[in-house]
Amino acid sequence: MSAVFGNQSLVELVRAPSYTKTLANVYELQPQLSFAETYWASWYAFMNNDVLATGLMFFLLHEFMYFFRSLPWMIIDQIPWFRRYKIQPTKIPSVKEQWHCFKSVLLSHFLVEAIPIWTFHPLCEKLGISVAVPFPSVKKMALEIALFFVLEDVWHYWAHRLFHYGVFYKYIHKQHHRYAAPFGMAAEYAHPVETMTLGFGTVGMPILYVMYTGELHLFTLSLWIALRLFQAVDAHSGYDFPWSLNKILPFWAGAEHHDLHHHFFIGNYASSFRWWDYCLDTEAGPEAKIAREERMKKNALNKVKRN
Ligand SMILES: [Zn+2]
Ligand SMILES: [Zn+2]
Repeated sequence: MSAVFGNQSLVELVRAPSYTKTLANVYELQPQLSFAETYWASWYAFMNNDVLATGLMFFLLHEFMYFFRSLPWMIIDQIPWFRRYKIQPTKIPSVKEQWHCFKSVLLSHFLVEAIPIWTFHPLCEKLGISVAVPFPSVKKMALEIALFFVLEDVWHYWAHRLFHYGVFYKYIHKQHHRYAAPFGMAAEYAHPVETMTLGFGTVGMPILYVMYTGELHLFTLSLWIALRLFQAVDAHSGYDFPWSLNKILPFWAGAEHHDLHHHFFIGNYASSFRWWDYCLDTEAGPEAKIAREERMKKNALNKVKRN
């Protein structure tokens, strides 16, 4: 059974023993569908089991996007020319460090994240998250994804700040801070409690959104998760280029922002944007410290003058 066409007889009609044959049938019988919709619909029709189709797709999406995005950073680390853009140029991760990180992240993906991924579709059905074609408009999807970026950043800022307090740091968050000079793959190197807590920002915010609006498409959610994975890996890359996104959008955090967090262990708690750390005066690094001290001096002088 699949809800992809909202019509089981159409699913039976296009379904074939192979994915490519199903794809050809969908092309022929549903020519109005876009490129992405055709591939999506063929996947769900071919699987004919939405729980399995969603579970497998999300698991593969996570593994592929995470390691595929980490790979260019691993290659760049081996090319000395790129050192000019490395934020902490003397700290290149060794093969041993990367291997340890890879094993740990992979194990956590199978043990910690596999269960929520496999139970995700029944939850989607309950919440009204749709898998049907056609997809919502590009504008609607873009606005929803932008909102998820903003909401996740709020959650991440406060949860991450909390993880830097006493016992939370000692027993949970310390693991993620093993690498003072992070690298792409270290993005999800964390204690399972941290993975679940911070992961709520990525998955929980869209759930709250659909509980409120009653409408969300699983394709939008897949795009959001892929982009959020890219953001997390890039923030840990350790490289800041003249063409990095934070040079175009000054409020985008990027690697420069999060690298300082790993370097100094304090400040820059947000994930995607700079506004929370700026407004709440938690910016990391020596420059931010000098600016903060100057601001405090100025305020104290003004106070004396007023009295
Ligand atoms: Zn931290
Ligand atoms: Zn980090």
